[in-house]
Amino acid sequence: MTPLLAQILTVHSGFVQYLYRFKLKNLPYCACTPDKVQDVLHVLEECLIFAKEHAETEAGTDARIVGQGLPNLVNDYNSLAIFLRFCEGVTRRCNIRNNSKIYMTLN
Ligand SMILES: [Zn+2]
Repeated sequence: MTPLLAQILTVHSGFVQYLYRFKLKNLPYCACTPDKVQDVLHVLEECLIFAKEHAETEAGTDARIVGQGLPNLVNDYNSLAIFLRFCEGVTRRCNIRNNSKIYMTLN
């Protein structure tokens, strides 16, 4: 377990919704779309900022990254490894983009 995976699994991360909850951001919305809250599911499933990484991960795992596709990802070791790298990458980039203090202490 890496610090970045712990952040995404516990939802204690530099996503805007989390920072907004602690009054570290003025709004909970993602920079990709003004009406989309930037939470873990948004970032993993549909965020346009990570569309390239999302598509690469789906191509590498031959699974869709949506609620129903996740069981396929965790049943295969290679797919799980690709998915976890995707999770770490988007978490790291959200921490940096959102100037999260979590990034400063755990990365
Ligand atoms: Zn987004």
